[in-house]
Amino acid sequence: MKLPNLNEARKRTNKEVEYIYLNQKYDNKLFKGQKYFLRTYGCQMNVHDGEEIASRLESLGFEMTDKLENADIVILNTCAIRENAHDKLYGFLGRCKHAKKDNKDLIIGICGCMAQEESVVKELMEKHPYVDIVFGTHNIHELQDLIINRKNKQDIEVYSCEGEVYENISYKRDSQIKAWVNIQYGCDKFCTYCIVPYTRGKQRSRRSNEIIKEVEDLVKKGYKEVTLLGQNVNAYGKDLEDELSFAGLLEGVAKTGIDRVRFVTSHPWDFTNEMIDTIAKYDNIMPYIHLPLQSGSSRILKLMGRRYTKEEYLDLFNRIKNKILNCAITTDIIVGFPNETDEDFKETLDVVNKCKYDSAFTFIFSPREGTPAAKMEDKIDMKTKENRLQELNELVNSYSLAANKKYINKIVPVLIEGISEKDNTKVFGYTDTMKLVNITNGKDKIGQIVNVLITDAKSFSLDGDIKE
Ligand code: SF4
Repeated sequence: MKLPNLNEARKRTNKEVEYIYLNQKYDNKLFKGQKYFLRTYGCQMNVHDGEEIASRLESLGFEMTDKLENADIVILNTCAIRENAHDKLYGFLGRCKHAKKDNKDLIIGICGCMAQEESVVKELMEKHPYVDIVFGTHNIHELQDLIINRKNKQDIEVYSCEGEVYENISYKRDSQIKAWVNIQYGCDKFCTYCIVPYTRGKQRSRRSNEIIKEVEDLVKKGYKEVTLLGQNVNAYGKDLEDELSFAGLLEGVAKTGIDRVRFVTSHPWDFTNEMIDTIAKYDNIMPYIHLPLQSGSSRILKLMGRRYTKEEYLDLFNRIKNKILNCAITTDIIVGFPNETDEDFKETLDVVNKCKYDSAFTFIFSPREGTPAAKMEDKIDMKTKENRLQELNELVNSYSLAANKKYINKIVPVLIEGISEKDNTKVFGYTDTMKLVNITNGKDKIGQIVNVLITDAKSFSLDGDIKE
């Protein structure tokens, strides 16, 4: 049993990244006829981890079910960042405990970022003994062994802060049209509010030749779009001596000929002119950038450990807009960081007014145990924070709507992804600028990039018709 220890995460070692090529084969008849139920919360990184977990379960013979009561094994892939994460975990565990009363052989597994939190693991051990296996973000590759070798006790294998990168990972991808491709793991930025460097460890970049090989393989399989994935993608390669920069990697991926290349998430501090030039140069690198602001106040940005000022952010924003034609930019903003004053908040509104974002994810600061910001004294009451969030959202939404309205009567290329969940007479897809479009015709065009005439715009989506 290995337990997590957040303090260990701070002791970054100079140990070189170790590349481990997985090649173990499992007997896919071992659990034949048995069902797995997998629930994933959180960011794209977790969603992509979920694709790996599904593949590992199927390598043992499990088949997917979307009904908990039919499952022989249930895996909860947790998130430590989003609001109510703990409530969601323990609420779901209540349902699992109930299901285990009806099916005593049910295996219950917890993984993901919360499984890397010391306090969560202790609570699982002490108060939830019916949980069978707990594994962390570093240990997904051990899932099959954890299941096969499980004894009649909790099996916990969660923490390692040394630098490993696993290759030859197999994924059960959710889509046959677009794919996530991990380019790095972990993060070394240690923004003061963020738990990620503790739960996902130090930055480890994959080798560019492996990434490009993975994308080439996806092209051969007919994929139209890849999203390069990492906590801080544009710091790619900085942990390695003889590796491409992120701009070089983008170029290599663009040259594979895949129709669309995206990436998420980039840090303003690591955003270079070389990157901007590369995005502008290649038509298949999409003109869409998620550029987290977090706060418009340089004072708060310093407290957050973000490494840029309001002025530097605005300068970067303008360089991107000037060089990359029609580039859509979205952002993340935290309101109510400890002791954020009215003046600080006005600075944030000022940046939103200047940048007129295509959209923004906005949050009220919520402390994460073990991070420096969680220990900061905070005199701002929740009502003030809620009022600020509401004011911010109204402003952000007005700019989103204005940005979307500019598309009306224009014909834009859209990658059609599938049938709309809300209205099965329609299909949905995304523009190159990542605008969601609901389309009245086009069921025969799923998986294709087609020209769409935009007929209407709302704050969060567009409506359109396919133009032959
Ligand atoms: S760069 Fe992103 S993932 Fe890394 S510490 Fe900062 S907020 Fe967290």
